[in-house]
Amino acid sequence: MEALCPQCHQAMQWVKGHYHCEACHRDYRQLAECPECRQPLQELKACGAVDYLCQNGHGLISKKRVLFSYVPWVEGE
Ligand SMILES: [Zn+2]
Ligand SMILES: [Zn+2]
Repeated sequence: MEALCPQCHQAMQWVKGHYHCEACHRDYRQLAECPECRQPLQELKACGAVDYLCQNGHGLISKKRVLFSYVPWVEGE
């Protein structure tokens, strides 16, 4: 799945734990939110796949339904 820059909507590169937009020279990190309650989802990593779990009672959220957004990445966070 491609990550698109929230500023210029170009595909971003994955660099060392964050996304980098070459066009804007900015770094972003990905936020996964529950489509039901808009709360951050917990990432469960298993066997190379990632599952998303809502901790507010919506259970596992299919990756297709997860709302992804991108916020500026700050080194050290
Ligand atoms: Zn950009
Ligand atoms: Zn939820």
